[in-house]
Amino acid sequence: GPILGIETSCDETAAAVLDGTGHVLSNIISSQQAVHERFGGVVPELASRAHIQNVDHVTRRALDNARLGWQDLTAIAVTQGPGLAGALLVGLSYAKSIAYALGIPLVGVSHLEGHIASAWIDRPAFPRNCVVLIASGGHTHLFHADESGGFRLMGRTIDDAAGEAFDKGAQMLGLGYPGGPLIDAAARKGRPTVVRFPRSRVRTGALDFSFSGLKTALLYHLQTLTPNAIAEQQADLAACYQEAIVDVLVRQAFAAVERAGVSALAVVGGVSANSRLRAKLTERATQEGIELGLPALSYCTDNAAMIAAAGQRALLLGQVTALDGEALPDCVLPSAAPGGATGRR
Ligand code: ATP
Ligand code: MG
Ligand code: FE
Repeated sequence: GPILGIETSCDETAAAVLDGTGHVLSNIISSQQAVHERFGGVVPELASRAHIQNVDHVTRRALDNARLGWQDLTAIAVTQGPGLAGALLVGLSYAKSIAYALGIPLVGVSHLEGHIASAWIDRPAFPRNCVVLIASGGHTHLFHADESGGFRLMGRTIDDAAGEAFDKGAQMLGLGYPGGPLIDAAARKGRPTVVRFPRSRVRTGALDFSFSGLKTALLYHLQTLTPNAIAEQQADLAACYQEAIVDVLVRQAFAAVERAGVSALAVVGGVSANSRLRAKLTERATQEGIELGLPALSYCTDNAAMIAAAGQRALLLGQVTALDGEALPDCVLPSAAPGGATGRR
């Protein structure tokens, strides 16, 4: 039956309803961008307060849009971590209270499992045995996913996440926040070959990423230019900077596909909304005969449809969360954390 998903891990209060077959009936997102904008980043205490103010009416709106009532729900999925502790607690406590009141199962999922699940929302038949690249504001991780729901970490960023690289680059270029969509838009009017920024390789043996050298290269390049020149060349610089991030993501993702010996690649997370990344991935996948899974744009950045989708899958695998389950601000994935002991339910 219908499952409700709730997401409050960072600065989006989101709720969504999926029907029993995984079809999205509603997907409501309330962004707190206006709350945090003037601080240049997310302020945890303000995020928690905004979630408290919003979570109930966002959830009711999700139910209304799905044309369902509380009694129609058969399960609740909620983001248990990773994220801001106070923010996570708001969604988790709310979800627990609903699950208790309705007497239906609660399933806590990892925000990253949510991003991963987004690739299957519109494509339920996409292979489960595949490589997944999560490129988001806080993570750049490569996993080999298998049919049983297990994940093996193949590589990760050793410094900045790809989304962070976009956000910091945009700030340096005077484009504002959030940087990803702004660089994407500016780059459409620019030439990606004017300046060649570094495509770092990390010699760890794993398929790791590093974006801090790129950030520094942009900074040094900007120091050679006058403010007027920077403004004039903004589109070209955005295109060149974006190109470097995209090239590294594409290179590592396809290297992982080869190393894992699979024929399918899913790319998820906020950065998977990037138009240049989507174009280059599509081109390469076509050339190499690899099946490519890209979420619809509305499922790339944070949303609760992906949380409900991950919850639905977890329930199928027999996972339920006790009503005294804790928020897990630092969890990664059940079976893929570097230390192995995170993501417990
Ligand atoms: P995480 O999922 O790692 O916890 P998050 O939830 O904050 O972090 P997401 O919502 O998945 O991250 O993604 C947000 C990031 O995606 C931001 O860094 C943003 O700049 C980036 N992003 C969004 N749209 C685009 C785009 N079109 N091009 C590049 N980056 C983008
Ligand atoms: Mg956000
Ligand atoms: Fe996210």
